[in-house]
Amino acid sequence: MQKILVINDSSETHAQIREHLSQEPIELHSAFDGQEGLAAAIAINPDLILLDVEMHPLDGFDVCRHLKQDSATLGIPVIFLSGVSSTEDRIRGLELGAVDYVSKPFDLAELRARVRGALRTKYLMDLLARKGMIDGLTGLWTRAHFDDRLASELAAIARSPRPLGCVLADIDNFKNVNDTYGHLFGDEVLRGVAHALQEVSRAEDIVCRYGGEEFVILTPGIGLVGATTLAERAREAIQARSFAHDGRTAKVTCSFGVSDANIAGFTHLVHAADAALYRAKHGGRNCVMDARDAA
Ligand code: GH3
Ligand code: MG
Ligand code: MG
Ligand code: MG
Repeated sequence: MQKILVINDSSETHAQIREHLSQEPIELHSAFDGQEGLAAAIAINPDLILLDVEMHPLDGFDVCRHLKQDSATLGIPVIFLSGVSSTEDRIRGLELGAVDYVSKPFDLAELRARVRGALRTKYLMDLLARKGMIDGLTGLWTRAHFDDRLASELAAIARSPRPLGCVLADIDNFKNVNDTYGHLFGDEVLRGVAHALQEVSRAEDIVCRYGGEEFVILTPGIGLVGATTLAERAREAIQARSFAHDGRTAKVTCSFGVSDANIAGFTHLVHAADAALYRAKHGGRNCVMDARDAA
């Protein structure tokens, strides 16, 4: 049975939620402040956390930040429950990695539907992780999945031609980040870069952790020009971001190599992106190169 942890400082809300979800096939756990909630998240390893925003001394945003910084809890989906619902709060919550944001007064049917949706997604993510298709640190697709998807995209193109782009990204001087700030900080950077790549990509794009500090995005239906635009957006998003862990912050940049199936040929798609990436590294890093320049 899937487990839900409710972190909320109001016993009344706990009772409401318990009643709303009483017909669901779930195991419900309760915590009454942020600190207790964080401990319970580790002890219980729930499939979903319903997190109150207005709590003291840790508020829901603080709790979410802690959850997303700990590899033991970062994969647990969080739905914020809040009395206030300004657009800023919603955006802030979602940017912290929550999957949803529900405002009081809760509509019974709505809360249940959102909980069911989040649990279904969690179930599928767990399944994919067990099959080695989801990377545990970043939540992106793995190299193994990328190889499968590339093969099936190429087969589809052979039947009916359409563009296929490939963006390879490699974090610049990442060894320095680990050496200066420690490996855990490095992990946080990897998660942040993964998040940024996902944010600039479309739902159809296949965003993967290719290995170590390298990422690859496959863009079905989008050729070299569009894929280069995507890479440039990603480069800017990563450059603009501050990465934080344990009270320290740092900036990083990424280099990008872009190719498409038209220019590189099917079998050399990744190879051509890698050659372009190599030139981006030697061209000073924090830039995008495409396979055309190589030809
Ligand atoms: P360049 O700009 O040329 O890419 O330099 P770089 O330092 O990024 O490249 P290099 O290949 O020398 O170092 C990559 C580093 O990535 C070394 C390795 O320890 C680190 N790394 C790989 N996987 C992980 C991981 O999962 N977590 C952390 N924290 N570091 C990782
Ligand atoms: Mg509260
Ligand atoms: Mg590398
Ligand atoms: Mg690197």
